Amino acid sequence: MVHLYDFTLSELTTWMQEEHGEPAYRARQVFEWLYQKRVTTFDEMTNLPKGLRNKLAETCVLGTAAEVTHQQSKVDPTTKFLLGWPDGVTVETVLMQHNYGNSVCVSSQVGCKMGCTFCASTLGGMIRQMRAGEMVEQLLFSQRLLDDKGERVSSVVLMGSGEPMDNYDQVMRFVDIISDAHGLNIGQRHITISTVGLVPGIKRLADEGRPMTLAVSLHAPNDALRSSMMPVNKAYPIAKLMDACHYYNQKTGKRISFEYALVGGKNDSLECAKELADLLRGLPCHVNLIPVNYVPERDVQRTAKKQIYAFWNALQSYGVNATIRREMGHDIAAACGQLRAEHMKERA
Ligand code: SAH
Repeated sequence: MVHLYDFTLSELTTWMQEEHGEPAYRARQVFEWLYQKRVTTFDEMTNLPKGLRNKLAETCVLGTAAEVTHQQSKVDPTTKFLLGWPDGVTVETVLMQHNYGNSVCVSSQVGCKMGCTFCASTLGGMIRQMRAGEMVEQLLFSQRLLDDKGERVSSVVLMGSGEPMDNYDQVMRFVDIISDAHGLNIGQRHITISTVGLVPGIKRLADEGRPMTLAVSLHAPNDALRSSMMPVNKAYPIAKLMDACHYYNQKTGKRISFEYALVGGKNDSLECAKELADLLRGLPCHVNLIPVNYVPERDVQRTAKKQIYAFWNALQSYGVNATIRREMGHDIAAACGQLRAEHMKERA
């Protein structure tokens, strides 16, 4: 069976032509039904001939994800979905409603193999990749919730579970599908890909000239500290990572977002702030300071509020652009991987 959500519009056009002998405008109609009208059955695609609707129903499937559970935050309009697929895997996706727009956090892999010591997503390793269509489905769950209010998803962050650059082709296909003007039309500028720091992926993204936003999970200003938090640093140490970041900036002219999760007693000293500022000097960028989310299986302490502000102030005094990330839905463990981890524990 063919999964329709896996197709970009141009792939759908080719497939409809080769498989069903249909002209290009038919593919566009189907695409609009999928993403603009967001129907869930072929029968609703009323401007297609009945014969074609039947043929589509016989040869392909729409979504296969089902909601396992969802949580609604009581402190802000954040909704977290745990979605399940027929092979038994589950992933999380989070809808965050801000007054400036609605943003969705998508998971790119089931689990993760990067092994960051503070992260819940990597606890059970990587189970499998998410296909583009499965990422599209995650987005559609949020969009359907917004449809009731007549609103749309305005931005997407690939910051759920998984390492998107370890699933590069499917992630970029997903981006092509959701950014298409005939579909959800989410501009690539409003799509952020967050990476643990896979250097080849950063270079490839730079070479492809996609106008997406790049976020790099830095979390430490030197190799000893970063390697102790992020095993990937042994493969791509900071000097190589920074080279790739400079390359990206030179090629695209775009500023990079660095994520820095503050872990109490680990990377939150003022010396670290100074070292971080030295490291980033000369690179147009922005630092997002994230108070680390508590993960029961992980031995991470939160940095005290006072120290978070001291760190932030220090960065700014060295001329580094930085913000403290506002936490959304902290009462529903919105740090990705935690709802899934709980669900797996219950099942076991
Ligand atoms: N693999 C990608 C994207 C997924 S994680 C990456 O590493 O960037 C999205 C962000 O959440 C990353 O910056 C990640 O390091 C961070 N993160 C993971 N666990 C966290 C925790 N317990 N508290 C705060 N941030 C966390």
